[in-house]
Amino acid sequence: MTALLINRKNYFAGAWQTSDSGRTFGVLNPATGGLIGEVPDCSEAETNRAIRSAQLALPAWRAMAADERSRKLKKFNQLIIENRKELSQILTTEQGKPLAEAEREILYAASFVEWFAEEARRVYGRTVPGPTPERRIIVTKQALGVCAAITPWNFPCAMITRKLAAALAAGCTMIVKPAPETPFSALALAELALRAEIPPSVFQVITGDAEKIASALMSSTSVRKLSFTGSTEVGKILIRQSAQTVKRLTVELGGNAPFIVFEDADIGKAVKGAMFAKYRNAGQTCVCVNRFIVHESRVEEFAAGLCSASSALKVGNGLDSGVEVGPLISIEAADKVRALIEDALSNGAKRLSGENISAIGPCFIHPTILSGVNKSMRLWNEEIFGPLCAISSFKTEEQALELANDTEYGLASYFYTKDLSRAFRVAEALESGCVAVNDTVFAFPQGPFGGMKQSGYGKEGGQEGIEEYLTTKYVMMAV
Ligand code: ADP
Repeated sequence: MTALLINRKNYFAGAWQTSDSGRTFGVLNPATGGLIGEVPDCSEAETNRAIRSAQLALPAWRAMAADERSRKLKKFNQLIIENRKELSQILTTEQGKPLAEAEREILYAASFVEWFAEEARRVYGRTVPGPTPERRIIVTKQALGVCAAITPWNFPCAMITRKLAAALAAGCTMIVKPAPETPFSALALAELALRAEIPPSVFQVITGDAEKIASALMSSTSVRKLSFTGSTEVGKILIRQSAQTVKRLTVELGGNAPFIVFEDADIGKAVKGAMFAKYRNAGQTCVCVNRFIVHESRVEEFAAGLCSASSALKVGNGLDSGVEVGPLISIEAADKVRALIEDALSNGAKRLSGENISAIGPCFIHPTILSGVNKSMRLWNEEIFGPLCAISSFKTEEQALELANDTEYGLASYFYTKDLSRAFRVAEALESGCVAVNDTVFAFPQGPFGGMKQSGYGKEGGQEGIEEYLTTKYVMMAV
């Protein structure tokens, strides 16, 4: 890649830097297996320097008028939009998603910056009548301080901006450790933030050893908050580590989204919604449908519609025109999906369409549809993270809800019905932080995205998003 925004160094402590050891690690293009480039393999020492810099940059950034911070974020938003072509090239090359989808992610990523640029000016406190004549109670919101983010590879830009923009809008500084698979998108954002005149060390990016970088961040008393998106397994480690310094956390972990189709659903709309909610990012999003739960009277019709739409999808290298499903992030990720398919087939599922092995390359899986899925199969409990549709059926609403909630996760749920009472009833009964009714799109900065149960806690986006980076101060004033 020869893109202008490609940076092979990290940005921290006020400069573009290599690792202290000079070590680097390689980043591969999942579509071809080819090496894109190397980035620094940093560790605790570099992270500690970044923390000190973030601490030094904090007072001026926090004290800056909210209007001024807002203007800088708006400039950052504008630069992301202006550079979206180049950013999408970088994103597709390191992540694999089709170029058009990458461009949509860039605009989605920018939308968080715009949203939080606006929210920066609306951090309101309140005054409360005092309990005695001479007392006044003043409630203010203050920036938490230095914050950190550890982000995944599935949305290399958007998962950063929805944390970063909220933090910066609140007056916090932030250190980001991106996923090792997709560091170039993060480093490109750091470059654009500098061009937007966001002061050095307000936003820093460190790549390298996840455990060591996290250990430095989590043990630091200066770092007041971590926002993490990733696996439940790593989330639990970080939750435990946060106890050392009583750090605030936002944790957005795994999902196991149910998609219920009731007997009165518009099947055409349900199939259309399912196509987006299943195949976006080749099925690699934490809100992708994991289990289709379809009324027994409509299951054949729904499955036939899904098979027909799925078989029309073009699979290939995301840089090629017209491609709709790119590679999975790695051979291991594709092998895991293949193992889930084999496990379901050996436990009685029926393959309606799809291929496990692709002539295009080892990271590719063609859209696959299995029916007759049940609780005994691994894919019922595990996050699939691939273009595999698992269909089961139900008889009653009660049974559908029981199946849908039969998971330790609780991030997203979807259902299709034309019955208004049922829409309210089911939306309230589903155990997930995000519910879509006759729709499948959650990707808007206006919405407070986040989970319940073991999908985590804290919200990203919405008016709740900035609160995650603020602390409430209670001032008792005697007059
Ligand atoms: P995935 O399996 O989808 O890659 P992970 O939870 O392993 O999800 O990764 C999400 C992010 O967490 C990445 O940035 C990764 O480098 C980081 N990570 C992985 N292991 C740890 C760890 N032990 N401590 C902190 N961060 C980690």
